[in-house]
Amino acid sequence: MENCSQIMGIPVPKVTMEETVTIIDQVITEKKAELFHVVTINPEITMSSQHDLLLRSIIDEAGHLTADGAGIVMVSRLKGNPLPERVTGCDLLIHLLEIGNEKRWSFYLLGANEVTSKKAAEEISKRYPNVSVLGRQHGFFDQKVEEQIVDEIATLSPDVLVVALGAPKAEFWIHKYKNKLNVRVAIGVGGSLDIIAGTVKRAPAIWQKLNVEWLYRLINQPSRWRRQLILPRFAMKALLFKENNRLQ
Ligand code: UDP
Repeated sequence: MENCSQIMGIPVPKVTMEETVTIIDQVITEKKAELFHVVTINPEITMSSQHDLLLRSIIDEAGHLTADGAGIVMVSRLKGNPLPERVTGCDLLIHLLEIGNEKRWSFYLLGANEVTSKKAAEEISKRYPNVSVLGRQHGFFDQKVEEQIVDEIATLSPDVLVVALGAPKAEFWIHKYKNKLNVRVAIGVGGSLDIIAGTVKRAPAIWQKLNVEWLYRLINQPSRWRRQLILPRFAMKALLFKENNRLQ
């Protein structure tokens, strides 16, 4: 693939946020029957996909991949095949809500706890009045009601299904039901609903710019330290990884 940067064998397209939004806009406008799965690639997903074959196949089958995480962009730069910028799930969701407000798109919010889910839906309706939040469901449901949730989403048939179940749970969930959901675009967005609801604060712009958003999150949510141990391991492995240059 010409316009990709290989990160541990994953061809991440060299596209900006603006181009990503344009791609998704086209998918929604064309009203394709097939679900378009957007997977945000971060160091954890990249590392897991090296041994988790289902996750790897989900990435291979995805409609589009974006470079979430400063680590992904940093590795692409150090390997001399730079990605233009980070396209995080959270930023992408905000952009989709903005354009969705102009184009009157509909959304369904799946995930986060009940308080966050309710607050996020209210905030979205307040900030983006032309967006329809057709429905929402918190992310701590019993497996027994899963089929019911899928049926509800399929009946409502939103343009965008926002899945805030954490990664890679969201990716597995979308993949499992992709032929039943009857949505145009589905995307796993991690903790974005917590940020929209105001339950969790996003790092100030300067931290994001300096690529130390991970440090901000670590200071504010110290329980994440174990998860973040993966970052240096990822950087080492990804830099030493022999990519197939023919694919770059
Ligand atoms: N979550 C959920 N159901 C679960 C596990 C997590 O709804 O079974 C939610 C959680 O409340 C949070 C989001 O998924 O809103 C995960 O956020 P995190 O920042 O951990 O995302 P990640 O970085 O793991 O993608």
